Amino acid sequence: MTAVTGPLPRTEPARHVSPYQSYVYAYPHKTAYRKMADRPRLRTLWATEPKDTLSLYLHIPFCEVRCGFCNLFTRIGAPDGLTGAYLDALERQATAVRDALGDSEPVRFATAAFGGGTPTFLTAAELERLCDIAEHRMGADLRAVPLSVEASPATASADRLEVLAARGTTRLSLGVQSFDDTEARAAVRPQRRADVEAALGRVRDARIPVLNIDLIYGIDGQTDASWLRSLDAALAWRPEELYLYPLYIRPLTGLGRRAGDADPAWDAQRLRLYRVGRDHLLAHGYEQQSMRMFRRADAPPQGTDDYACQTDGMIGLGCGARSYTAGLHYSFDYAVGMHEIRSIIDDYVSRPAADFAHAEYGRPMDADEARRRHLLQSLLQAEGLPLADYAGRFDGRAPADDFGPELARFASLGWLEPVEPGASATLRLTPEGLAHSDAIGPELFSPAVRAAMAAYERK
Ligand code: SF4
Repeated sequence: MTAVTGPLPRTEPARHVSPYQSYVYAYPHKTAYRKMADRPRLRTLWATEPKDTLSLYLHIPFCEVRCGFCNLFTRIGAPDGLTGAYLDALERQATAVRDALGDSEPVRFATAAFGGGTPTFLTAAELERLCDIAEHRMGADLRAVPLSVEASPATASADRLEVLAARGTTRLSLGVQSFDDTEARAAVRPQRRADVEAALGRVRDARIPVLNIDLIYGIDGQTDASWLRSLDAALAWRPEELYLYPLYIRPLTGLGRRAGDADPAWDAQRLRLYRVGRDHLLAHGYEQQSMRMFRRADAPPQGTDDYACQTDGMIGLGCGARSYTAGLHYSFDYAVGMHEIRSIIDDYVSRPAADFAHAEYGRPMDADEARRRHLLQSLLQAEGLPLADYAGRFDGRAPADDFGPELARFASLGWLEPVEPGASATLRLTPEGLAHSDAIGPELFSPAVRAAMAAYERK
C-alpha cells in the first residue's frame, strides 16, 4: 500500500522555515472559535453523542506567578473569595451540564483531569470540593479511572497532595521547567532548586502512581551541559513520564516583548537541545511517545492517554475549558492578556445556572476537519497512524486520498517512514519528522481554520 501519492510542491527559493511554528495540542485552536449567535443548547448538542466513555476536564484558571512563556488561560493570584466563588460557579455549571447529558442512556467518564492554570492553587479543602463536584455533580468515579492533576512546586504541599492521592489521583504533573535557578529566572519562572526538590519529595511521599516532570529547552543561556544537568536532576526521581517542551515566545506573554522575526540561531539551539534531551532519555530507559513526551519503559500502564483532550466526547468545566462533541468544539471566550482574562473569569463566576445550559463560543467540525484532526492527533504520536483505523473511520479512505500533497512534501523532507504494506500498515514519522512535529502540525490546518486564526484579534 502506498501512503504517499500526489504532486510534489513547486520548488521554492531556499528560506529559513522554523521547525517551531506552533504546538498543536488541540485542533482547531481556540483562536478559531467564534461567538455563536444562536447559543445552541447543550441538551441538543449531546443528544445523539455516545456518552459511555467521556473524558472530564476541570479547569482552574489561577497561578501564583505568570511564567514568562505561558499563554494559557490563567490569572495571577485571586482576591479574597474568588476561588470559592469560582467553585460555586463550577458547581452550577456541572449541575447544568450533567442535566443536559440526560439519563436516557448511561453516562460514564473514562478519564478525568484537573488542569489550569494550577489546580493546586486551591487549598486542600477546596480540592476536596473540586473532587466532590466531579463525583457528585458529574458522576465521575475518580477512584476507578485515570485522574491526572497539574501542580507547581510551590503549591504541591503535603496536605493538598494527601487529598489528591486519597481521591484517586493516578498522575501528578509537576511544572519544573528547569532545575537551574538562573535558567528558571530567564524563563520568568523564578524558583529555587531546593524548593523544587522538596516538592518532588512530597509528591513521591504521596505515592501517586505516575509522576510527570515538565522541562523546557531553548532558554536564554542554556547549554548542552546545563540542559543535561536539568535532565539528570529530573531522572534522579525516576519519573514515570517526562515532557520536554521547546520554549516559545508568544505575543502578549511576559517574554513576548522579545518576540520578533525568525531566529535561525535560536531554532538551531532548540533543535540541538531537543536531540540531546531525546537521546539522553532514550539511553536511560525511556520510550518516546511524541516529540514532547517520554515514558519510562517499566512504568505502570496508564490506560487511556492522560492528554485525552484529543478525543471526541470531552466535557470541559470551568471558564477556560473546551468541550468536544463530534460536530462542535466549544468553550467560553478566550484571552491571553491579564485584563481580559480577569473580566472573563469575573463574568463566569457571576453567571446563573441557566447560562451554563448553552454553548457560546465554538467551531463546527465537518467531515474534512474530522479527518484533519484524526491525522494530526495520530501522526504526531511516535506510534503513528494505522491506515486501517483511518479507513475504518472514514469510509475506506487513505490519508493520501485526503492529504496527498502535504504527505508528499513531508516524505520529500525525510519526515515520513516508508509504509510497509499489510494489515498493520502505519503512517509514521521518522525521528527527524518527530523533531519537526511543530512544523508538520500547522501545515495540516484547513484553509478555513487558518483564516479564522489569522483573523482572531489577540486580547
Ligand atoms: S506555565 Fe503553568 S504555572 Fe506557569 S503561568 Fe502557565 S499555567 Fe501557570
